Amino acid sequence: MMYDQKPVRVRFAPSPTGMLHIGGLRTALFNFLFARHNQGSFLVRIEDTDKERSQDHYTQMIIDTLSWCAMGSDETIVIQSERHSEHLRIAHELISQGKAYYCYCSPDELQKRVGNVTREGVSYVRYDGYCKRFIGLQPGKDIEKPYVIRFAVPESCTQVVVQDIIKGPITFNADTFDDFILLRSDGSPMYNFVVVVDDAFMRISHIIRGEEHLINTPKQILLYQACGYAVPTFGHLPLILGPDGAKMSKRDAAANAYDYKKQGYLPHALCNYLVRLGWAHGDQEIFTLSEMIASFTLEGVSSKGALFDAQKLDWVNGMHMKNSSAQALYDYMSGVLGLPLANNFSSWSMQTIFAAIDLYKKRSVTLQELFNELVQLHHRPQRYELNNLTHEQKKLLESLMTLLVETHFVAEELTQKIKEFCRNQQIGLGDLAPLIRVSLTGKKDAPGIYDLMMVCGKDETIARVHAYAA
Ligand code: GLU
Ligand code: ZN
Repeated sequence: MMYDQKPVRVRFAPSPTGMLHIGGLRTALFNFLFARHNQGSFLVRIEDTDKERSQDHYTQMIIDTLSWCAMGSDETIVIQSERHSEHLRIAHELISQGKAYYCYCSPDELQKRVGNVTREGVSYVRYDGYCKRFIGLQPGKDIEKPYVIRFAVPESCTQVVVQDIIKGPITFNADTFDDFILLRSDGSPMYNFVVVVDDAFMRISHIIRGEEHLINTPKQILLYQACGYAVPTFGHLPLILGPDGAKMSKRDAAANAYDYKKQGYLPHALCNYLVRLGWAHGDQEIFTLSEMIASFTLEGVSSKGALFDAQKLDWVNGMHMKNSSAQALYDYMSGVLGLPLANNFSSWSMQTIFAAIDLYKKRSVTLQELFNELVQLHHRPQRYELNNLTHEQKKLLESLMTLLVETHFVAEELTQKIKEFCRNQQIGLGDLAPLIRVSLTGKKDAPGIYDLMMVCGKDETIARVHAYAA
């Protein structure tokens, strides 16, 4: 479906109270893809009104993680706390219109008067509208008490229906919320209020966010109506569940999105993995960014929770590494990850480095692993997985050295000479190949011998075979 009736403008609105959670990154991604698919705008807003818990370095980490994934804001990032005077202005405007009012009840008074209500296992204090009787009086002048500002839920409101584009219509009865607070007694604004004011200011057309916010949506819809703003379209994303089937929390080891960068996952692979958490396009698993953009629709988002599967992420990353050119992986490893490729492999030509990357990219799960493989290959093995060579094996390796000295290290010639050698020695390639692999890498499980020999080069191959046979 194309949303051509109004320009698509979506936002990702993280609170900088921690690192960017993997679920947050998925929310950002869905917004980003939705915006790109519909030629709309993807905006970022930092929700830092909770001064105690917000920290600048978290803001920076969140922005860095988004930019690592090439999901920067299309417009200047909105910092919510910088809009404080506007929030105050609108709160007071609502008061002057009789849509909000001052409440002077202290938490203790409230607790004594109304007690706790338990709903779906959660106990809370349901405000009783007591201070409506003071409407028209001025705090500080007529009443000397600290106050909060509460929204006056319209008397006529019996229910609010959220038309959720992912979950369908959801009805909330008015008794599930009370005259909620817009501004606290210290003047700091509450989430439900500022989110509406700022989303309207940013002309957000679609609010796509985690399911945990669904509970807030009816209050926000009432605020949109009270402020005279057009109500945006809502879509709430299913939760990401940890391996135990419980909601993945910020404390989960796998939860910090930036860690995946450090571990050597490609950003587009991580995004490819995340897009499939709750969204499907037939049974396609591997997507390029442009394929994701072309096929992403909110109609394809499932309303059910999605299981986080670290093994599948490894597989997706491996597939993207395999599909990447050696040059691209080289640039990413040295440029983005800052891995010292040029310094570490100074004895290798660029062509050799690329050949080594091509050889190991299919065998590694992450770029960090690939880099470690290259480092190992670059060093002469210190240990061998196959020890105690027999006398015959040693003699075989010695003859092999003689052959290699006379061989041009060109793929075809090398292949042909080795085959000939096996025939002459009356052995199978299976007898010789493990010895070559172990001499070059120390390991039995290694890439094909011709590729390995080509990467190591003639002199180094002979030197390694010599060291092994010694
Ligand atoms: N700041 C909220 C959060 O980080 C997001 C609110 C929203 O998307 O409406 O959960
Ligand atoms: Zn009150």
